[in-house]
Amino acid sequence: MRMGSALNIGKLFGIQLRLHFTWFIIFVFLTVLLVSPNWLSPLWWVTGIITCLLFFASVVAHELAHSLVGRANGIPVKSITLFIFGGLAQMAREATRPGAEFKMAIAGPICSLVIGCLFGVLWFFTPGMIEPIAIMLQWLAYINVALAVFNLIPGFPLDGGRVFRSLLWQITSDYQRSTRIATQVGRVVGYLFILGGILIAFLRPFGLNWFTGLWLVFIGWFLENAASASYRQAQWRETLHRFTASQVMTSDCPVVPFNITVSRLVQEYGFVSGRHFFLVADGDKLEGVLTLHNIKSVSQNNWDATQVKEIMTPIDKLKVAHPEQDALSILEQMDEDNINQMPVVSEGRVIGLIARDNLIRFLRIRSEAGI
Ligand SMILES: [Zn+2]
Repeated sequence: MRMGSALNIGKLFGIQLRLHFTWFIIFVFLTVLLVSPNWLSPLWWVTGIITCLLFFASVVAHELAHSLVGRANGIPVKSITLFIFGGLAQMAREATRPGAEFKMAIAGPICSLVIGCLFGVLWFFTPGMIEPIAIMLQWLAYINVALAVFNLIPGFPLDGGRVFRSLLWQITSDYQRSTRIATQVGRVVGYLFILGGILIAFLRPFGLNWFTGLWLVFIGWFLENAASASYRQAQWRETLHRFTASQVMTSDCPVVPFNITVSRLVQEYGFVSGRHFFLVADGDKLEGVLTLHNIKSVSQNNWDATQVKEIMTPIDKLKVAHPEQDALSILEQMDEDNINQMPVVSEGRVIGLIARDNLIRFLRIRSEAGI
């Protein structure tokens, strides 16, 4: 899942922490909800805001638990984002073994459970605590346990769904099939939430109000969407896994000599063809690659005096693909290194280029053709 419009707020254990704009909505909403029994007391406001911050610190701890266990199992973590429905740790790729996936998935709920118990113990052993603090400790205990329980629902991509997939994967040794089953269960869970939400909104059982119902509908809608996206992604991955680099690459990427100037490059090869990626070669030998980004790093006044070899990314700093490498691992590598293109090299020679948009187009055409 892509998360745009997020604010970087710093790093924790080398992992970027981000706030999605929807987080501010839930933060204000939760604070107001917590303070609502006693609007006019500054003490309630201060306690409410601190409680809300502690809650989100707990959510970060939950995501951090996933991330650190993931990292210990060789899965790099790009960022943790807080948004309206909680937190999301963005991994560069999926686990390669069911055991790793199981540990990574279960770590979050266990962390929430432990935090919930700690707040519960704190509340229990400090009787006579003044009212807002006692109430908020109780709430933090409750909400963390609720977070653990909610996340253990076996619908992918919830943690429970990942646990479920890892078990299926362990039993069947079939990753793709396990993913398809777990994501379909995830969609059913999403629909059940929507249905339950509608029933609660209209029937209002057990003193629940229409708002709770509406909230459940939203969560269900979000879960169904996320599960469908994961299902499609699983299908794409399956498709890419069946193809090699040489089958999905484009072999007509422009090659430019390494000793021409930037102004010659722009005039003769550049924007005319609409390319934004060049291979830079000395005769037959690949020296590096050049992107629009490299060209922009030189001011126009210096274009005449600068050769492309001075601004290109040299070959030794470049990730290259092998013709027989499967397309899925290439896409994962791109995600991991945050790059959009990879040259395909055979015996020291570039035979083609794989760009991220090519892979996406390749998948779209296949899915439209129903292949
Ligand atoms: Zn989780």
